[in-house]
Amino acid sequence: YAKQQGKGKSQLFCEEFSDQYERKIMLENELKHSMANNELYVVFQTKHDLLSGELVGMESLLRWSHPQLGNISPIEFIPIAEQSHQIIAIGEWVLNESLAYLTDWIKAGHEDLKVSVNISKKQLVDRAFIPTLKILLDRYQVDPGQLELEITESITSEVDDIIPSLVILKELGVGLSIDDFGKGYSSLSVLNTLPIDTLKIDRSFVQSISSTKYGLDIIKSIIDIGKNMDLCVVAEGVETEAHLEELKKLNCPVGQGYYFSKPLTPERIKSEFLEREGAAAIE
Ligand code: C2E
Ligand code: MG
Ligand code: MG
Ligand code: MG
Repeated sequence: YAKQQGKGKSQLFCEEFSDQYERKIMLENELKHSMANNELYVVFQTKHDLLSGELVGMESLLRWSHPQLGNISPIEFIPIAEQSHQIIAIGEWVLNESLAYLTDWIKAGHEDLKVSVNISKKQLVDRAFIPTLKILLDRYQVDPGQLELEITESITSEVDDIIPSLVILKELGVGLSIDDFGKGYSSLSVLNTLPIDTLKIDRSFVQSISSTKYGLDIIKSIIDIGKNMDLCVVAEGVETEAHLEELKKLNCPVGQGYYFSKPLTPERIKSEFLEREGAAAIE
């Protein structure tokens, strides 16, 4: 057998390919029971005003803890959920969960808190998405302005598909943000037709601040675009004091990243950010 005689390149490729394929099929099947088995949960990462450090919002991020396979990254399972259509049910669950926590926090006195939820294209173009969202907003009596939906820049190339939903969401008063901005290929004219409020600078640019000048130039351009189009700009992946200082120099208004906090369970968000004296300030 070729296997025992040492692997040729193409055979190695085939084995790797079939291993990857098997894992995908397995995860797709396991994902089907994940909600019923309580394996899914949301964590939240804070967003901060870069000048004052003040807490201005939270992003909810989905987690999957499988009893045998351990923690599986959303980078791996979200695309599988999208391809298998499971993202519709899972995404609705994430919205419900995120709004439930937001409601708790509002009731605890953080009346103006905002929560951002990541949304896949499959959800956005699903007929039931907007009616479902309305039901959820109604159920929790949350001001639509306190919910923001994050969509990745990559789907903005399919403007005709997504614009109708975006327009309705905008009319509802829900905030709209373009995630991972700068990584994709959206032209400025397309950007101009989208009824959005916020650009989130992809974290690769923030991370390259320290190593190359290129990152800083791109960030500068994105902040300019934001200013010209009257959009808020959020820097993702702020990890160090140096990142913070550079972003402040460029007048970037908002940031998110490990420098401020890792994504935390709702309990830890409450104890570490919402229950402290002057809860809004970071140390
Ligand atoms: P994203 O929406 O761009 O979320 C930011 C990601 O960067 C998160 O990864 C977060 O944990 C990570 N991050 C935050 N700060 C830092 C930092 O300072 N340094 C570094 N290196 N990373 C940082 P996570 O939680 O693994 O999520 C990955 C992606 O999965 C998200 O990227 C989003 O596209 C997707 N995702 C997560 N939850 C959901 C969800 O509920 N629905 C959908 N459709 N997608 C989701
Ligand atoms: Mg996001
Ligand atoms: Mg992002
Ligand atoms: Mg992303």
